[in-house]
Amino acid sequence: MHVTSASIEITALPAFSDNYLWLIHCGQHALVVDPGDAEVVAQALQARQLQLDGILLTHHHADHVGGAAALQQRWQCPVYAPDSDHPAYQSLQAKRVKQGDHLTFAHVGALTDSLTCDVLALPGHTLDHVAYYLNYRHLFSGDVLFGAGCGRLFEGTPAQMYASLQHIAALPADTLIYPAHEYTAHNIAFAQTVDPDNPDLQQRAQNTANLRAQNLPTLPTTLALELATNPFLRCEALSKQIAFQHWSPIDVFTELRARRNHF
Ligand SMILES: [Zn+2]
Repeated sequence: MHVTSASIEITALPAFSDNYLWLIHCGQHALVVDPGDAEVVAQALQARQLQLDGILLTHHHADHVGGAAALQQRWQCPVYAPDSDHPAYQSLQAKRVKQGDHLTFAHVGALTDSLTCDVLALPGHTLDHVAYYLNYRHLFSGDVLFGAGCGRLFEGTPAQMYASLQHIAALPADTLIYPAHEYTAHNIAFAQTVDPDNPDLQQRAQNTANLRAQNLPTLPTTLALELATNPFLRCEALSKQIAFQHWSPIDVFTELRARRNHF
């Protein structure tokens, strides 16, 4: 899967059973987001004759950070990691990032421009979770937002996750979103149980089935599509429907997340 925007290419590197490690490259320079598997990234860099200039980590889970140390050692490149004292980061010489930080990568980007990135704190899946919002409107959302779904609450509260999703919802609608897992088809099956009359969701179910039948990624997605079809971003609309009448949006969110855990 390739996305080209202002000379930047973004490629999904499949890893483990359903992860995508996102490779951002321009010319001979690359960044990688959440390299859970160093070998997958090393092979992709070699095949494209790329130099790794930086590693971006969204949170401390092993399928996101597991390959970072080996890649850092090989390429001597900076690692950007959430500002927490979790042991997963301790072996890395990481630059710590937090809400509002603005990163610049001088080498990766158009010839006269450089790639820049804003850090968003999005707690809920873990307390330390951040997302990276690249210029040209690309959001690397880790395990916060998935296609038609959201991450499990391993550390945060429903209120924290709800606020994090609202933070994403406030970005420009044409933002491209790059989640770290291919969960879209299963998430849509769940979404249809709580939002069965949504025509956009029915259309998305068809499109997703077509892509998966060809073993193609359903990602990236757009914020506009998520706002129309992702039940975890539609809590306010769902709270007006008969099934959830008189519930607050956050109560709807809490109920949806609980049901999805057992779906
Ligand atoms: Zn995770």
